[in-house]
Amino acid sequence: MDFRISQNVARMKGSATLKAMQDVLRLREQGIEVIDLTVGEPDFPSPRFICELAIEGLSKGYTKYTPSKGLKVYAEAISEFYYRRFGAQVSPSQIAASCGAKQAVFNAICSLINPGDEVLIPKPYWVSFPEIVNFCNGKVVFIETEENDFILSLESVKRAVTDKSKLLILNSPNNPTGRVTSAEEIKKIIEFCADRKIFVIADECYLFFVYPPMEVFTVATLPAELRHFVCIAGSFSKTFSMTGWRIGYSIANEEWTKGIVRLQSHSASHPTSFVQYACAKAITEKFDESMNVVNEMLDEYKKRRELLVFELQRISGFECKMPQGAFYAFVDVRALTGKNGFSSSADVASYLLEKGHVAVTDGSGFGAEGFLRFSYATSTENLKKAVEQIKSVVKW
Ligand code: GLU
Repeated sequence: MDFRISQNVARMKGSATLKAMQDVLRLREQGIEVIDLTVGEPDFPSPRFICELAIEGLSKGYTKYTPSKGLKVYAEAISEFYYRRFGAQVSPSQIAASCGAKQAVFNAICSLINPGDEVLIPKPYWVSFPEIVNFCNGKVVFIETEENDFILSLESVKRAVTDKSKLLILNSPNNPTGRVTSAEEIKKIIEFCADRKIFVIADECYLFFVYPPMEVFTVATLPAELRHFVCIAGSFSKTFSMTGWRIGYSIANEEWTKGIVRLQSHSASHPTSFVQYACAKAITEKFDESMNVVNEMLDEYKKRRELLVFELQRISGFECKMPQGAFYAFVDVRALTGKNGFSSSADVASYLLEKGHVAVTDGSGFGAEGFLRFSYATSTENLKKAVEQIKSVVKW
């Protein structure tokens, strides 16, 4: 009764994406069948050969603590992978293991931001970015992107920058919009930031999930003088369908990496040892198999994207552009709000759930009231059923 949560945590909102997923689980526990298009979690099983490598790691005794920075073999493997796949020179000394990209982002923000520092966050944003900045007493400065079709531009960054700007958070391919910023624009933005000593976190969770004509691009390929200002947050979760393994990494300059590791040494310590072992082996010794897995998933996402988006575009009151990357359809439902008994997009989401038994994520958690996010990281069959169920309850 006399317990009060700390001010640092009181300032944070819970994760809207994880809450949406948990709401679905609760309904299912009550026996209600729901098609879940909320959380961004690939439905493919984790690759069998990586599971076997984890078992191999266990039998080899990778069951103890590793350094907080992660196993040497893990950092070396990521370095080798970036060179082999992208030709990027990333030193193992710049790499720290983390429990998913979320922890990499958390560590990177907390080890850079002092109270009052301004952090530029393009809007819509992934739900955790502003909350982590709030936790650090930083000041969130949003950058509006709708005027440019939700694609971040140098011009919009320039308009938001002040002399207190310390950090910009990039996320392309973007969650929740599915938009992709071109390599040229990203380079210009980072040049501009580096010039003003503004650091950049590039959340590259969806790195490989890009649809032609857009191309895969990592900021790891930028010249070293620009890379000095950049921290990449990467993850195995989406890339290899390994969300529950909680494994990712940061790539940043050595001083930033030391801060990241120091902070991590007082929280998770490090991600699971045999998981680090399995991932290291997968992306080096089983490089081809690993890339095949990614390409197969991408081919499947392409089909699902077309199926879902063409159908959504035909639903009255829904407006949806073809996503360029990631696995989210971002639907503008503002034509429906303010009438039909809907005062917000959350009402539309509730209606689809209650009447159609289809769960989607409301945009307001992403700073995008008026929009809904549909994850198509689920089977074609589920997507077809979801569309049918939505169409059957569309009465406006
Ligand atoms: N990033 C995914 C999503 O947006 C997973 C949930 C989360 O970690 O926020 O749905």
